[in-house]
Amino acid sequence: MYDLIIAGAGPAGLTAAIYAARGGFNALTVERAFVGGQVAISSTIENYPGVTEAIPGELLSNNMKRQAERVGANIVTEDIKSFSLTGEVKTLTTSKNTYEAKTVILAMGASPRLLGIKGELELAGAGVSFCATCDGAFFKNSEVIVIGGGNTAAEDALYLSNFCSKVTLIHRRSGFRAQRVTMDHVFKTNNIEVLTPVIPLEILGENAVKGVLVEDKASGEKRELPARGVFVAIGRTPKTGLIAAEVTLDSDKYIAAGEDCKTNIPGVFCAGDIRSKRLRQIVTAAADGAVAVSGVEEYLY
Ligand code: NAP
Repeated sequence: MYDLIIAGAGPAGLTAAIYAARGGFNALTVERAFVGGQVAISSTIENYPGVTEAIPGELLSNNMKRQAERVGANIVTEDIKSFSLTGEVKTLTTSKNTYEAKTVILAMGASPRLLGIKGELELAGAGVSFCATCDGAFFKNSEVIVIGGGNTAAEDALYLSNFCSKVTLIHRRSGFRAQRVTMDHVFKTNNIEVLTPVIPLEILGENAVKGVLVEDKASGEKRELPARGVFVAIGRTPKTGLIAAEVTLDSDKYIAAGEDCKTNIPGVFCAGDIRSKRLRQIVTAAADGAVAVSGVEEYLY
């Protein structure tokens, strides 16, 4: 039996893996696909301490993994199918194995939120994307639309403006959630047009995206904005589906836990974007990973 199983290997899970390995715990980290979570699909990171020059998210993620493995972390790539967390022995079943542990850190993160409009899923992969840094390169010299008003949408628009002929950023309100400094940059970029308050009604196209049908909220006027690519960047949904029956969630379905990262179940902790919190950043995810391991230590000894 493991002392600790860490579910998810984004910055929170990898930091927990580093702290657990250095703390001498018999720990296992389970990741479904690639390490790094949302960071791995971020073009560049420059707001994480110690990163003296902007670093690609994938490189930062791989560095975290290398660091974890160098200090002795055991990371496996397996798809988690179910959890059983309430007993003294916690069980985690993957597509290949069943693991037992005395404690668990839930660090599965969050996935993209959907608009729920016609064309969004039908044209996914045929011009609709949920990750500008993953798919942006397919739209060189093309007109694209970014939907959203948070930091992700603003940063996606800036990233795409580097190689797309025109980027239209549309947002349902006139105020933005994105940091003012980022929006200043967006407004000053020549090939980015910002349209607000505008509601996306439908993503148009048969086999490939042709544009977006939008409604101007002020006038009620509908019109078609042409584009070859549409990047949906309207936030994320926490990956709490598998644990919802046992772990207490908040109204947005994030795990209800404070800065101590303790869930409602003794021996079960959470870390990173999956936790109810004000600021979801690499630095706050990493901090959670360290705090959660200190909670594990306190629980075990
Ligand atoms: P977010 O901050 O939750 O913003 C989501 C945006 O999408 C909001 O502007 C929201 O509009 C809009 N939206 C939501 N549902 C919509 C719908 N159905 N139709 C149209 N628009 C919709 O999400 P995020 O930008 O992905 O950021 C997530 C977290 O990561 C944030 O804490 C953010 O600061 C952080 N982040 C940080 C960095 C960085 O520091 N480098 C980079 C990326 C993300 P309303 O404003 O009207 O609700």
